[in-house]
Order: sequence, then C-alpha cells, then structure tokens
Amino acid sequence: MKPSGFLAPQNQQSLKTILFYLGLGSNLGDRKRHIEDAIAFLQSCGQVVRKSAFYETSPLAMPAAGLFLNMVLALESVLDPQELLAVCKVHEASQGRDLEDSHYKNRPIDIDILQAGDMVIATPELTVPHPRLCERGFVLVPLFEIAPKLVHPLEKVTVTRLLSRLKGGEKIRRQE
Ligand code: ADP
Ligand code: MG
Repeated sequence: MKPSGFLAPQNQQSLKTILFYLGLGSNLGDRKRHIEDAIAFLQSCGQVVRKSAFYETSPLAMPAAGLFLNMVLALESVLDPQELLAVCKVHEASQGRDLEDSHYKNRPIDIDILQAGDMVIATPELTVPHPRLCERGFVLVPLFEIAPKLVHPLEKVTVTRLLSRLKGGEKIRRQE
C-alpha cells in the first residue's frame, strides 16, 4: 500500500494517479455521519475532486431494510484499484460492517469502486466497472450529477445514456 501521505512530494508527482468514481451508501445509524466519515477517510487516500449531493433511496430487493443515503464522488489517487478496495474494506469493517456475511445488506457504510479510469478488471475480489452499475438508479443519478459524459469502458456509452436506459421504479430523492 502506498497512501499519498507517506510519500515525499517529489515521489508523489512521479506516480501515476487514477481517477476513480466511488459510490458510498449507508442505511444504519447516523447515515450522513457515516458517509461524511468515509469521505474524510478517502481524502487520506488521494484527492476528492467531485462530490454529488446526498440522495435518499429505497433499498433494491431489500423490502425490510431502512432507506439508504447514497452519494458518489471522484477521487484521484496513486493507489491501484486492489489497494483502494483493501483500504476501503478496512474502513468499512472499522465502522462495524460485518464483512463475513455477504448477504447482510444493512450496513453503516458501503464503498463501491464504480470505475477506475478506463480500466477493466475481473478478479474474484474486484470487478471494475462495478458489475451492477448499469442497473442502479441510486448510483447512476448521482453519477450523472458529477460526470454525465463519463464513458463506461465496456458499454462504450455515457452515464447519461446508461441513465436513460433505466426502467425506473426506484425512489430517489435528492437532499437539499
Ligand atoms: P454491493 O456493493 O453490490 O451491494 P457488497 O458490498 O455486499 O455488494 O459486495 C461486497 C464484495 O464485493 C466485496 O467483498 C468486494 O470484494 C466485492 N467487489 C467486487 N467488485 C467490487 C467493486 N468494484 N467495488 C467494491 N467491492 C467489490
Ligand atoms: Mg459494496
């Protein structure tokens, strides 16, 4: 791992940065605080260059769960995608998320890597672009807010187009 805070400035400049788009979500406890804490944590992993508003969304396929608060952000980081996933999992676990049970869908904080530049990754631990990105209004709506022209490297279409393809049915309310 090579968090930018540990590197001398001359080394930081010579390292390649990746422009990540990340999706953050919470439906347990103080949801806004969990997301704000995650943003502060991500600021220690690079530079947060864009942030969407917060959106309150109805849980997909989880009728019994509480409403989610979701947002997306753009992060420039010298970490590679596997390193970023690893540190995000450490942060999720530190906030009380049970990482052992993948079906445990209520969570204080969920951090998803939506895109990593135009990289395509398919490993057991990490799939980029995020495999459910194209079907999730709660991700595409905030992503449209900060990056409408971003191109999905496999679909080869913009976020605007991905959003227009969605069938709808999700309740997504922008918070002022
Ligand atoms: P979802 O975010 O779709 O609701 P989960 O958060 O429950 O699903 O999935 C967690 C697992 O997904 C993690 O163990 C992680 O290894 C894996 N994963 C695969 N690709 C990604 C990605 N792009 N971003 C975050 N986690 C991912
Ligand atoms: Mg996740």
